[in-house]
Amino acid sequence: MRATVMHGAGDVRIEDVPDAALAEPTDALVVVTRAAICGSDLWPYKSMEHDEAGRRMGHEFIGVVEAVGSEVRTVKAGDLVVAPFLYSDGTCVFCREGLHPSCLHGGRYGYDGVDGGQGEAIRVPQADGTLVVLPVGRDDALMPSLLTLTDVMGTGHHAALAAKVGPGKSVAVVGDGAVGLCGVIAAKRLGAERIIILGRHLDRIALAKEFGATDVVGERGDEAVERVRELTGGAGAHSVLECVGFEESTLTALGITRPGGAVGRVGVPQNDSIPAALPAFFNNVTIGGGPAPVRAYIEELLPDVLDGRIEPGRVFDRVGSIDEVPDGYRAMNERESIKVMIEF
Ligand SMILES: [Zn+2]
Repeated sequence: MRATVMHGAGDVRIEDVPDAALAEPTDALVVVTRAAICGSDLWPYKSMEHDEAGRRMGHEFIGVVEAVGSEVRTVKAGDLVVAPFLYSDGTCVFCREGLHPSCLHGGRYGYDGVDGGQGEAIRVPQADGTLVVLPVGRDDALMPSLLTLTDVMGTGHHAALAAKVGPGKSVAVVGDGAVGLCGVIAAKRLGAERIIILGRHLDRIALAKEFGATDVVGERGDEAVERVRELTGGAGAHSVLECVGFEESTLTALGITRPGGAVGRVGVPQNDSIPAALPAFFNNVTIGGGPAPVRAYIEELLPDVLDGRIEPGRVFDRVGSIDEVPDGYRAMNERESIKVMIEF
């Protein structure tokens, strides 16, 4: 079968790899119908050292179950399924608390002999705990929005929950990538009154406004902090979604949080320490977030996608075949594309 393999910074190839196959009785073999490139796939694309063996890529996919192991009960051959970006058993102490990223038997696609999602097929471990059956056909018009449930929509929702978004609150979203845009959707869905997006790419800002952003701040650094404070009566926002992970964006997020407010971090931190710890302390700012328990959120968000109440699939502005994956990485890395969907 063909799959995406990264060999180093800027070096993504489509290669023939061994066919995906069942290995454990808890596995499902899924033939991929849709996949996506994630902003987090761009970290190795920028920095990975050359590796001739390469690394299998992709953790956002929808597909049709082809076969299941002897212990799998909740999915069967022929089911169309969506998978969260991590696999999990659904039964351990952390899964039962809704914290699937900490699953005792969970893991990541593309590691430990597990296939990546940007390929023709994938072995999904812990199929019962991981996969969710979709009540639509494989080429349903909702496919782009359903595909965002694998990661970006659940991650934006997680940022909003960690930032304690609620009715009447003022919200600021730092980052205008796919996750930030989904954060806007999540904030509106949870009843936020004012949603300020910090970003400067015109196409992304336009989409953010359609998703419910009420104000746009194009400045950066101290100027951005000042502008958000102006917009919020000098106090800052109740809830701030940090969807980037850089030191500067984290500093901005903490600078625009109202005393007693909360920051929800979902951008993977690129630094060891959190800046501005002292003012955050004296302002009683809650700092939360982490990898989203997307498996828990699929069930919560799926009805809204099926009813058309939210349309996160609009973050996809480019669609291609598996042969176009390398150019998709390039386009996203150069900010030419917000997010790329792959059709099989
Ligand atoms: Zn678990």
